[in-house]
Amino acid sequence: MMRPLAGFSLFLIALTFLQTGGCSKQTAENPFRYPFIRPLHLKREAGKPYSEYRAFYVLTEDFEPAVESVSDLDYIREVLKFASGLSSQYNIPWTHFVDVNALAPAFLSDDQQLKQRCQAMIGDLARMTVEGDDCELHLHGPMNRELLDYVSSEEKLHIKQSGAEAAKPYRQRKSFFFQSFYRQGYRQLVGSLTYGKRLLEGCVYEGKKQVLAFRPGGWDHGDNEQDTLLYFHALSDSGLMSNSGLSTGQFGGENWRVGNDPGKNVAIVSAGEDRLFEVSPTAGPGGYVNPAMPHDLNKLANSVKDEMAVIVAVYHLGALQKTKSEAGNAPRSDAELRAERETLEQQFKTAADLAAAKVLYPITLRELLAIISEQQ
Ligand SMILES: [Zn+2]
Repeated sequence: MMRPLAGFSLFLIALTFLQTGGCSKQTAENPFRYPFIRPLHLKREAGKPYSEYRAFYVLTEDFEPAVESVSDLDYIREVLKFASGLSSQYNIPWTHFVDVNALAPAFLSDDQQLKQRCQAMIGDLARMTVEGDDCELHLHGPMNRELLDYVSSEEKLHIKQSGAEAAKPYRQRKSFFFQSFYRQGYRQLVGSLTYGKRLLEGCVYEGKKQVLAFRPGGWDHGDNEQDTLLYFHALSDSGLMSNSGLSTGQFGGENWRVGNDPGKNVAIVSAGEDRLFEVSPTAGPGGYVNPAMPHDLNKLANSVKDEMAVIVAVYHLGALQKTKSEAGNAPRSDAELRAERETLEQQFKTAADLAAAKVLYPITLRELLAIISEQQ
């Protein structure tokens, strides 16, 4: 029989052990604790259209469809029509993070039919922005070389080449930052961001609006603090004012996380003289809040007190495309695609009900950035 006191001592030993274990887990790289990234809490200002609501709801999607064939393009155009229909029916706009490399056939393809269809797809995006959607920039690596040459033919950048070595092992998926900075240097990193931004502004906004934000492909903004600071300098040097997608921990590991909890996913970033805003996805099971997966939006919206929560959901419209964009994946069946559409529509219904109940205030990232700037 164990005496109660011995039991208590064992409990203390166990607690110490757990805490030590806990500490070693806390060594996970956490960009939200870097000294140049400070949390920003949005006020629920009186007399604003959102004053009565609990949270901003920013529905984003990474637009990186398959564009290999005419049928790929016909399919994604059909998906855009569906997505746009949901927005107008439920009054919830999309913020599209457009991978500009997916627009390349519109400018470069020798196949006239493919070229025309890709131009039509860009036309769809442009129309959706007129109807209230937002388009921002996304890339998984540098801009496609021919596309960059095509866009930069009128203007040359003069930026120093960097000869950096990536940390080994690299904690992130080797995607945007690794492929552009470590493979090709700072000049290429800024070149891709600058010309990608200009290309999108020209073809989606007719040059009348600026692209303000970037989302790094693979959530790869570099391995460590130094990389991430350089990454924000590159965004600023490219004329961008916001990032959407910091990731914590080791890619593929248990501590891997995209974004952060409500109340912690918005931040001010100081990169030298410049100030940028981080509006990260809302972390959730499986990585982040994904409209195709069950999430308690009401609970998330009410999880912070005395401030407006910001819920950033992340989807990929390419998930509704018959040809999946990731190589090696078999095309999905019609039944699977129908089910995926129904799940997405269900989330729109839920969000619209919460908007009617004055819980969620649906908004684009662009509109939210205007509110954030105004509150500074
Ligand atoms: Zn992506």
